[in-house]
Amino acid sequence: MNFSDTEIVLGVMSRYGYNETTDLRDSDVILLNTCSIRDNAERKIYSRLDELKFEKRRNPNLIIGILGCMAERLRKDLLEEKKMVDIIVGPDEYRKVPELIDNLAETGEKGIAVKLSRVETYDDITPLRRDGVSAWLSVMRGCDKFCTFCVVPFTRGRERSRSLAGVVNEAVQLAEQGVKDIWLLGQNVNSYNHDGKDFADLLHTVASELPQVRIRYTTSHPYDLSMKLLETMASHDNICKYIHLPLQSGSDRILKLMNRLYTVKQYMEVMKTARSMMPDIGLSTDIISCFPGETEDDHKMTLDAIREVRYDGAYTFLYSPRENTKAFSMDWSFSEEVRKRRLDEIISLQREISFDINKSLIGKLKTILVESRSKKSDDQFIGRTDCNKSVIIPGSFVSDSSRHKVSAGDIVDAEIRKANSATLFGDIRSVRDSITN
Ligand code: SAM
Ligand code: SF4
Repeated sequence: MNFSDTEIVLGVMSRYGYNETTDLRDSDVILLNTCSIRDNAERKIYSRLDELKFEKRRNPNLIIGILGCMAERLRKDLLEEKKMVDIIVGPDEYRKVPELIDNLAETGEKGIAVKLSRVETYDDITPLRRDGVSAWLSVMRGCDKFCTFCVVPFTRGRERSRSLAGVVNEAVQLAEQGVKDIWLLGQNVNSYNHDGKDFADLLHTVASELPQVRIRYTTSHPYDLSMKLLETMASHDNICKYIHLPLQSGSDRILKLMNRLYTVKQYMEVMKTARSMMPDIGLSTDIISCFPGETEDDHKMTLDAIREVRYDGAYTFLYSPRENTKAFSMDWSFSEEVRKRRLDEIISLQREISFDINKSLIGKLKTILVESRSKKSDDQFIGRTDCNKSVIIPGSFVSDSSRHKVSAGDIVDAEIRKANSATLFGDIRSVRDSITN
């Protein structure tokens, strides 16, 4: 979400003639886009601000701004404690960034704009993206779910959706620019609703409009994941067979305390249906460990749920108390030992399962969209299967005695020959013209 928001801010700034620089020392303005979801995300920003102190001393005219969720949450602290911060702009006020900078330059007045909006979707702003095979496309903003642990409804405000036409136009533009993989993005994309069109309608329209582009989405909330959405996914070859569906906990008691609006049984039903309709689907989740009141039994139920679903991957977090949320006032006391052990147990179980699943793919042929050169070796490229597995492939391939050099955007069929828990390694068998033929 923050990557996508940064592209929106760059889009706003470029209208006013600003350019991005890759050299910190070249900048006249440094904007930090921040996240408040867990305490460690906020701490990172504080230490980044400490590093930037030296830059500010070197160049007193340098303008430093804080954008995003922390701006909204900690504006007082940031202005008073961190005197070096010049502008503070919340997630719904990015249009004001250039004007606040101008005002600061003219009057020396620090700028602050942190109001949340019920309507802002930046529908008319063209995000400034780096060239690439994949692109994020934000379809809705905010969240109305109010999970008791989560700060998002407070920092990003009420749920609102972009127009279907706005999303489709942007998707078409992206395809014209050469993008081959579009991620429809929102805190809870399944709640998308614009003029009676729901997320399945949006997904269907984008996928039909761009049959040669892979379409994915994130994040879903289990409560809103409808049969209609699963049917839409199953009926389009270019909609990736991958769902990230945060479970958070395997205990109904904890899910209730979290206000997650589903039971483990209901969640499992959705997973079972998705697998029966799309047998090779990739599934991943988010888990929060040590939520207030989580007992050893609750923790074991989470491990059982992970065993039952056998996810391809999981993002696992230790609960982090967030001010304003309901859970903040719940009694929360776990020893360091318990916190570490429970999280370790979840991570190692998931790693084992991911490794098993990945090993079972050895010898299979997978279609891969090549994304970029591998960070580890210039001779290799990295790509993704439609069920969202990363695959490392060689940088060239010989067929009919001619050598084909791989480049980003290629679509290849590769035979998987090696796997670890996070990555597959494949040998290219053929190059394709299209993702669907
Ligand atoms: N909207 C998605 C959903 O609810 O299904 C999740 C979006 S949230 C920004 C990403 C993930 O951060 C959540 O699924 C949750 O696991 C984690 N998270 C949110 N608040 C947290 C907290 N206070 N402590 C630890 N993890 C948290
Ligand atoms: Fe946060 Fe997701 Fe719950 Fe919304 S649905 S409150 S973003 S965890």
